[in-house]
Amino acid sequence: MPAVAHLTHSRFWPLYRGMRRFEHLSLDEQRAVQWLHFADLLRHAVEHVPLHKQHFADAGLTPDNIQSFDDLPRVPITTKAQIQRQFPDGVTASNSDKANWQYVSTRGTANRLMAIHDFAKRDAVRATAVRASHLSGDYRLGKVSAEIPPNICNIVCGDEGQELEGVLPHVWTMVKNKKFRDRQSISDLRGLIERGWIFRRRTYPPFGGQGTHIPDDRLDDYVARLRRDRPTILKALPTYLLQIARHVQRKNLPPLPVHAVKPMGSSVSPKMRTLIETSFTGHYREDYGSAEFGDMACDCPQRDGLHVFMDLFVIEVVKDNKPVPPGTLGKVLITDLTNRAMPMIRYEIGDVGRFAPEPCTCGRASPRVYIEGRLQDTVIDDEGNAYTNDMLMDYFYDQPGVDDFQLIEKRPRRFELLVVPTPGGQLDLESLTRRVAEFLGRSAQVQCFTAKSIRPEESGKFRFVKSCTFDRLG
Ligand SMILES: [Zn+2]
Repeated sequence: MPAVAHLTHSRFWPLYRGMRRFEHLSLDEQRAVQWLHFADLLRHAVEHVPLHKQHFADAGLTPDNIQSFDDLPRVPITTKAQIQRQFPDGVTASNSDKANWQYVSTRGTANRLMAIHDFAKRDAVRATAVRASHLSGDYRLGKVSAEIPPNICNIVCGDEGQELEGVLPHVWTMVKNKKFRDRQSISDLRGLIERGWIFRRRTYPPFGGQGTHIPDDRLDDYVARLRRDRPTILKALPTYLLQIARHVQRKNLPPLPVHAVKPMGSSVSPKMRTLIETSFTGHYREDYGSAEFGDMACDCPQRDGLHVFMDLFVIEVVKDNKPVPPGTLGKVLITDLTNRAMPMIRYEIGDVGRFAPEPCTCGRASPRVYIEGRLQDTVIDDEGNAYTNDMLMDYFYDQPGVDDFQLIEKRPRRFELLVVPTPGGQLDLESLTRRVAEFLGRSAQVQCFTAKSIRPEESGKFRFVKSCTFDRLG
């Protein structure tokens, strides 16, 4: 990696080393760096990006009015709709070099948000990915990692399972076609070396469209691949992890040799974690990231909340645009301090979470955030109590006879519940319906049905809760 840093424009290696050093700074030192980056980004965005220029003009503000993080609530929030309406010219910096741009979008989301990264942001994303895998999963460059992406990849990323061309065949193609200086071929080569040689990433095929429950021989195939590859890190949709874990338990197989199991795309409730963990030799670990931003936070050996990467992001938890006290649930806002091509400032990412009230005992000074699911999967009752995706998952996976579920709030407080019964289990639908209605608070009405499987959304991801009262969160 140091050699690559000397021979190319890539800043990956020095960035990564800087990030590792940053983690050892005190909270005050980290905040000071974060503030410098933030103030600089704000000036840049208001000067060069039409959306932010307009936002500040409408609010009657200049960047000089924002003197400290206490002034943060005065900075206008950015929504997905605003970005989609004005993409790309209205949301990108007029002084950014378009030749450097790369378009990225969240995999497996139907209503996609496209973002633009320049060269510097791409380097930062790569370095942060290694930082997150190292801090949360003990991963080192050169070890094997594996992933099972959502089903959407069949459509977006090419053939199933992404059996990508190898590095050497690609070089041979370049030689044959005399494409040594072709930009695209060099960029492809770089990607292949990165995936195959540096990250040694194995990509397994997704479950497919039939839903959460797939035949045993398909599950056996994942078990065999994991025993063969022995990855340091396995990343997959939580549903996939859960089904593989249950399969291992049902068949009484020895735990799978994976050092760290990490969910992809959404969070996992505490009870699900325990269930998943018993089927692997290693631990359940977690980080928080997306394609638009890269990794933003990751856990530590305490495995209690995710430490924010303060040199790269400002993460806020707010209700009605005001910060909520630590421990209180609110909407998550993200400011990306390293994307200067398309500055994202106080972006409403659509997740709910809360900050930990206490500093962590692991020694890292950065605050910890708990991400508890998507805002649209959060049910709010008439008294204003929130039932997050995580809470509901824990509740349902604890009910006897329930293997899987989907709770759909059709109209406020009118729920439809789909239940996949545990094979050979005892499911009393009537009593379950009664208990669920009680759990969901006064005025909840529940209709219960059984199903064979829960199907994924068009996006390839799964939603187990669909709320129509989430906007009550302010
Ligand atoms: Zn910690």
